[in-house]
Amino acid sequence: EASIHLFARAARLGSRYILVVAEDHTEAHRLDDVRRDFIANISHELKTPIGAVGLLAEALAEAANEPEQVKRFANRLTTEAQRLAKITQEIIELSRLQAQDAISKRELLNVDHIVASAIDQNRVMADARKVNLVSGGDKGAEVYGDEPLLIIAVHNLITNAVHYSPDGSRVGVGIRNADGIVEIAVTDQGVGIPEDDLERVFERFFRVDQARSRHTGGTGLGLSIVKHAVQNHGGDIRVWSRPGYGSTFTIRLPEASHAATTTGSTSTKE
Ligand code: ADP
Repeated sequence: EASIHLFARAARLGSRYILVVAEDHTEAHRLDDVRRDFIANISHELKTPIGAVGLLAEALAEAANEPEQVKRFANRLTTEAQRLAKITQEIIELSRLQAQDAISKRELLNVDHIVASAIDQNRVMADARKVNLVSGGDKGAEVYGDEPLLIIAVHNLITNAVHYSPDGSRVGVGIRNADGIVEIAVTDQGVGIPEDDLERVFERFFRVDQARSRHTGGTGLGLSIVKHAVQNHGGDIRVWSRPGYGSTFTIRLPEASHAATTTGSTSTKE
């Protein structure tokens, strides 16, 4: 508010110098707000599992003489602990990605290998849900980048596709290499995303359906990590979706022979 006031006064006075100062001030405020929001979100997200761990530990102590109860509480304690570990790991990953404009590691990478690794990591979960996980498209595409990071990006899209789809449905991962751009598209036949929420799904901690996402172990950070990982590679991510029909998330990366060779020059920011 102070900066808007200053901005209005400077505009009235017609002072160019003060105007510039006011703009800087506004940007600094915005970054402060973003940081404050992030910390408030993290605290909120951690509160529930930490509270649950406390309650379960108490219940465990009280149930000491009932082996069945002990087993049940211990299992739930393990689930909450795993959830805390996952949130913490994703927060670290995301802060690391946000802190740097571009990835420091740039190796020549085979896209088939990235997709195959991400599919392998999701195979057990897909099989358990009888989801048919298939891949296809152009072979031999190459990009420059950080392989583990790109595998995480594709992995997160596949995990979501399986998560938000019915048992027995199909999830396809397609590679397209044309006009200097490599596209990796993950398509599902799942619940889809309402149009009003489409833009927001890449925001940190955003979930279309809080209860459903929490139930399936979602943190609301997966797509935010994908977006930053891809942007740090000079690429972008797009989404198409129709509620009741399914969704397609498409990662687009500069093909190796078209990519800028200097780190950072192709990165895009919000
Ligand atoms: P989460 O850990 O909750 O899955 P994400 O950041 O990965 O968090 O996704 C954000 C939200 O976007 C999810 O909670 C879900 O509502 C929605 N979403 C993501 N992928 C899909 C998909 N393939 N189909 C339907 N909804 C999806």
